[in-house]
Amino acid sequence: MIRRTIRSRRDLVCQQAVELVTDYLEGVLPRSRRRRFEAHLAGCPDCPEYLAQMRAIIALARSITPDDLAPHMRSDLTGLYRRWHADDTLGNPA
Ligand SMILES: [Zn+2]
Repeated sequence: MIRRTIRSRRDLVCQQAVELVTDYLEGVLPRSRRRRFEAHLAGCPDCPEYLAQMRAIIALARSITPDDLAPHMRSDLTGLYRRWHADDTLGNPA
């Protein structure tokens, strides 16, 4: 449909969809936003793949426990998370 080349303002763009992925996977997305998210997925070549990757990562993360990690890995990951969180805070001064 030619009309579709001009996106209506109600359409989600990929960046917005990506921001909703974790909420969607956790099932906490309100119904109206979930519908728009799913409508975007249906018409987007990229986001379904991203969603599949996120699903796989979450499944993997759930399947391991801290005891599965060697101590140095655990501290590496903790450091990585702290740095990531610090960067995130610096990048978005609220
Ligand atoms: Zn998309």
